[in-house]
Amino acid sequence: MMDLFKNISTFWVRFSDYHIRTADNGKQYLTAVDGATPEMIYPLDNAKQLVLDAVNIGLAIMGKKPRPLIEQDILKFARNYGLLGLMTALPTTPRFMDYHYVYLPKNDFIRAESMETEAYTDLFFPFKKPTYRKDGDYVEWDVEGDVPVQALMLTCHAYTPIAMQMSFLREYAEDIEWQKKVFKSFAFNFLSVFFYYNDPLTEDEKETLRWGMRMFEGSSPTCHIALEGDSPVLVWDFHSLLHAIQMAFAFTLTDPQSPIKICDNCDKAFFASQQDQKFCSDRCGRHYRAKHKNDDK
Ligand SMILES: [Zn+2]
Repeated sequence: MMDLFKNISTFWVRFSDYHIRTADNGKQYLTAVDGATPEMIYPLDNAKQLVLDAVNIGLAIMGKKPRPLIEQDILKFARNYGLLGLMTALPTTPRFMDYHYVYLPKNDFIRAESMETEAYTDLFFPFKKPTYRKDGDYVEWDVEGDVPVQALMLTCHAYTPIAMQMSFLREYAEDIEWQKKVFKSFAFNFLSVFFYYNDPLTEDEKETLRWGMRMFEGSSPTCHIALEGDSPVLVWDFHSLLHAIQMAFAFTLTDPQSPIKICDNCDKAFFASQQDQKFCSDRCGRHYRAKHKNDDK
């Protein structure tokens, strides 16, 4: 199954550090800190870990873990993988910057079916709007003085939609409540699968869960074949980290080789290497047995 990810060249960008910052509208956003350096990463190189990290944040939110701890988890996720790329994930096309209007399929964040492109991008630049100069297909960002971002933009130019480039700018920000919704939906879908196969359910309950999974459709990534090296390479065109996680999630959840489970000790999701594995680690197994050693007496 994971071979699907083997010949894949999908990059994303993360900055070396992020923080939570409150905007004039009173909302809290996740954004890169001043002076943080951007770096290209390949998040699907460790697709399983990416999926687990996303699901576990969602489980923590559903389990009502205290807010400061959840925010720490979300910051850690951003420091590992960058922001989710919601700006390009939500519209019908990641090339929406070519048009006056953005069209939005049903989503959890914006109720309008369409918006003026500028008003839409404003949602992701609550602190400072980027300025750019367009010359045919060539776009130049005003990132004067910001050498690391300048260098990054040069490497991106040829291949990536403008909106995707914009989401790699230092000023790009994502509403932390939106991020929480995304993580929660991963956990919800994970739990649906988990309960479907692990709990005795009535036919009605099963139908509800099946229906829940159908909600997990959204927009799908496309792919193309690149002729490189000795053999052709399948290249997935993700325009957001969110879509990359969604696809990795779908593949990992349907992989019979390594079932995803919940640890009996710490309640976190993990991939089991054996069907009857109950704990995410030896450490959790030891803790659990220590806690329960007097249970049978
Ligand atoms: Zn555990």
